[in-house]
Amino acid sequence: MHIQSKLPNVGTTIFSVMSALSTEHNAVNLGQGFPDFPMSDELTGLVNEAMRNNFNQYSPMPGWMPLREAIAEKVEFLYSTKINPDTETTITPGGTYAIYSALTTILQPGDEVIVFEPAYDSYIPNIEINGAKAVPISLVYPDYHIDWVAVQNAITPKTKAIIINSPHNPTGSVINEEDIQQLRKITAGTNIFIISDEVYEHLIFDDIPHQSTLRYPDLLQRSFVCFSFGKTYNCTGWKLGYCIAPAGLTKEFRKVHQFNCFSCHTPSQVGLALFLKNRDAYLSLPAFMQEKRDYFKQLMQQTRFTMHDSFGSYFICGSYERISDEADKDLAIRLTKEAGVATIPVSAFYHHGKDDKVLRFCFSKKKETLEMAVEKLARF
Ligand code: PMP
Ligand code: GLN
Repeated sequence: MHIQSKLPNVGTTIFSVMSALSTEHNAVNLGQGFPDFPMSDELTGLVNEAMRNNFNQYSPMPGWMPLREAIAEKVEFLYSTKINPDTETTITPGGTYAIYSALTTILQPGDEVIVFEPAYDSYIPNIEINGAKAVPISLVYPDYHIDWVAVQNAITPKTKAIIINSPHNPTGSVINEEDIQQLRKITAGTNIFIISDEVYEHLIFDDIPHQSTLRYPDLLQRSFVCFSFGKTYNCTGWKLGYCIAPAGLTKEFRKVHQFNCFSCHTPSQVGLALFLKNRDAYLSLPAFMQEKRDYFKQLMQQTRFTMHDSFGSYFICGSYERISDEADKDLAIRLTKEAGVATIPVSAFYHHGKDDKVLRFCFSKKKETLEMAVEKLARF
């Protein structure tokens, strides 16, 4: 049987490739972004209890109402914005799904979507599977800031949306208030939607405030804001998240969602609804993860990598010009096989494979894991 591929240019995602190679070579996996330390006992306890208390059937299509209410309360507390849990919040099976559904909700064939590269690897395929065209703009190396003149120049009558992601995967860069002002200026009076990928909202360091689009009513009216419980509560395998969007946008979003997934894992939603009330659990995250960033960055001084800044996310990038001039993909493979440490080559996040000779390291790991990895990297 022959399939005319909807994604002819897509292979297997770099995360699966590097994790498989890591397992094959018994390497320390600093590639794919996931914690190797246990998640909260309290939260697993709440979900176990929900299962035992028989919360095991379908939840409502938009999500378990007490969870949506807890999200609205949290949004008001963090960003001073009131959202309607009934009409503006939808629980989704992960952040990736929320982004895919938002793009599927708005895109028509021929539409253009501006994406910043390096870009999380699902964005461009999500655009293309909807018959639309990605318009990639490179973040400015080496600090990966947004060139707003380039954004303005890239806008055409076909521009349907802009995808932003802060804190940013893979670089750990974050947008600031000036970026928000530029985004407001560029989108004002247009029909351009914003997909704001904020899965790392709580993984932001050095006391930098997270510039959520939820803070700005003029941005929020055109935004689908996407989150992931997997990132917030160190349980990436749960694949649970949510999308906040104004009622009119949410109504269309739910048309896509209801015939794709319909509703998400009920006991997790019941447990999370209670756990979200524990503000400390998310307010303590920035400091917890910043300590890991600092520890890893300090350890990496034992190696010949030149580490970049990381202000958020699970990730920090490192240049390797003092080690080799080979392509980043080749070095990532060789490091996995010969040094026993898996990383992600940053060229994988560019549609044309732009290679600045940079690797991405995930520091969301136990101290021992980071120490073991750096010991191996220092010997390489
Ligand atoms: N966006 C970015 C930038 C991410 O790094 C991730 C994490 N994998 C996601 C979205 C998706 O999160 P989830 O695992 O909840 O789908
Ligand atoms: N977000 C994670 C990363 O960037 C992994 C997600 C995935 O494997 N799809 O590494």
